[in-house]
Amino acid sequence: MPESACAHITAVTTITTPKQHQCEECVKIGGRWVHLRTCQTCGMTLCCDNSPNRHATKHAHSTSHPVIASAEPGERWLYCYPDDAFAEY
Ligand SMILES: [Zn+2]
Ligand SMILES: [Zn+2]
Ligand SMILES: [Zn+2]
Repeated sequence: MPESACAHITAVTTITTPKQHQCEECVKIGGRWVHLRTCQTCGMTLCCDNSPNRHATKHAHSTSHPVIASAEPGERWLYCYPDDAFAEY
């Protein structure tokens, strides 16, 4: 991990990848998503802030799970909500 990353990101030693390429909350409500993110604390895959329901951000705020990884193929980065920190891996 880059030295500039915060403690939450540097604590992620193994990247959790999506179990299924779909937003777990949008599937329940018939919602649509733009991009997918995977929570690095519990492994839930949820939709990004460009999606109507912004489930990844809602999840981070409601659970205090700090770090998400992009679940998009070819994207290799992590984001920490409390520190607004971004790191590629
Ligand atoms: Zn952090
Ligand atoms: Zn969603
Ligand atoms: Zn989580």
